[in-house]
Amino acid sequence: MIIKTDSELIQNYLTDASNIKGNADVVYIPETINEIKPVLAECKDKKIPVWISGAGTGMVSGRVPEGGAMISMEKLNKILEIDGENMLVRVEPGIPLVELQKELESQGFLYPPNPTEINSFIGGNVATNASGSKTFKYGSTRDYVQKLKIILADGDELILERGRQKADGFTAELVTESGKKIKIELPEISMPDCKNTSGYYSQKGMDLVDLFIGSEGTLGVVAEITLKILPNPANIIGGICYFDDLDKLISFVEDVRDSSKDTFDRNYTEINGVSFRLIEYFDKNSLKMLKGQYSQIPEKALGAIWFEQEYSQENEDEILGEIYSKIEEYTPYADDTWIALTDNEHENLRKFRHALPLTIDEKLVSSGQRKFGTDTATPVKYFREYFNSLHDISEKSGLEYAIWGHIGNSHLHSNLFMSNENDFEKARETYAQLMKKSTEMEGTISAEHGIGKLKKNYLNFMYSDDKIQQMKEIKKALDPNLILSKGVLFDFD
Ligand SMILES: Cc1cc2nc3c(=O)[nH]c(=O)nc-3n(C[C@H](O)[C@H](O)[C@H](O)COP(=O)(O)OP(=O)(O)OC[C@H]3O[C@@H](n4cnc5c(N)ncnc54)[C@H](O)[C@@H]3O)c2cc1C
Repeated sequence: MIIKTDSELIQNYLTDASNIKGNADVVYIPETINEIKPVLAECKDKKIPVWISGAGTGMVSGRVPEGGAMISMEKLNKILEIDGENMLVRVEPGIPLVELQKELESQGFLYPPNPTEINSFIGGNVATNASGSKTFKYGSTRDYVQKLKIILADGDELILERGRQKADGFTAELVTESGKKIKIELPEISMPDCKNTSGYYSQKGMDLVDLFIGSEGTLGVVAEITLKILPNPANIIGGICYFDDLDKLISFVEDVRDSSKDTFDRNYTEINGVSFRLIEYFDKNSLKMLKGQYSQIPEKALGAIWFEQEYSQENEDEILGEIYSKIEEYTPYADDTWIALTDNEHENLRKFRHALPLTIDEKLVSSGQRKFGTDTATPVKYFREYFNSLHDISEKSGLEYAIWGHIGNSHLHSNLFMSNENDFEKARETYAQLMKKSTEMEGTISAEHGIGKLKKNYLNFMYSDDKIQQMKEIKKALDPNLILSKGVLFDFD
């Protein structure tokens, strides 16, 4: 195991994509899973706080330490087994998503959850229940986790496999590898009917592996992961189309979203109409930021949609024709649609999507501005109201902003830019207003980034104090000395 204590050598671990910086005394870098156990056992005995570090791409300060120790997953980065017969892959937590995807693709497999940040680690993805553009068709990380090996706060090991350990109603018992039994009471909450990573997952009779997915490093170290994989579809059509009217853009999304969902359970080779696997949105302000790099964006475009569809070679022309006539129904810019069929062309579309956060980061650095980014989502039945209120509230804030995201899942990010203290106050109010609004529509304050340290004060927009208290009791049962990820999700007195 590598152990770093030199202040200069540990600087990179002390922050994440939230840009908040913490401090730590030591960073442990285990090279085997077993090396994690004595570190945790010692920290538990000495009550030393511990933070678990993935790639540090988190947006909510989850890995940012406040003294004590960090355990970095970076050397636990192996693919342990690809089992094509059972369509499973077993990995260590520090493998970057991009490396796993590349290896699987080279063998003809697809691992669909694809957060935009492809350098994030799979362990981090499990800890935050990460999701991405393909979540529209394929679901989030949770839907692919079959089995987890967890190292608990005292160094004991817990192995959970989907279908094997279930709660009895809202009561559950976890049995560790050393034979210790841990009893927990799950809160009786109604989980939002949309993407969600806000607090612990809880359902009557649930699979206990689900408790650890999205628990943001507060319940244990995710040390080994078995994921479901799928066959990689033969061909993909991708495209970006532009709109001059937001009402028509919404109608287009509703139309293609519903027709796509109707065909999700059919084999893509048998579908001749529109059946997108992803539907993503860029607002006019996002397009304005990208215009310098992409001159093909129509001057007066008020929004754009990026889509992808799987197809077989035989029906390529028919599907392209169907997609084109659907676009033509809703926008005069159909001829400006940017279509991608080859790997290179798809890579260009992915770069277009990724150029947005990169351009924003450059803007923040060069202008000295800061930003708040929301991560709200609602059930799709509220989609139109959600879309309109998100735009209205962001516009009325008087702040510079840009909205983009996973529109097929009724999940958009509003990014609010701040230049001074006055802006900061406005952004804080707007941020809270947007979260309040989505929860009024039975939605979530965090669909994919998690709560971390930055959103914990808003968790009560979704859950009552006694339900949050029940979540804290789960944490106490699994980590009685409260050493893991202090200040993430909740505060303890
Ligand atoms: C440009 C950009 C785009 C992004 N796009 C998306 C997106 O589309 N979808 C999305 O879901 N997210 C997105 N994110 C957020 C981020 O990439 C995800 O939250 C990702 O899952 C974090 O993984 P990580 O390895 O970087 O984890 P870290 O940032 O290192 O940690 C995140 C949290 O997970 C915990 N953790 C990490 N590893 C483990 C482990 N092995 N066991 C237990 N706990 C652990 C940490 O303690 C922390 O609480 C984006 C971020 C950026 C910067």
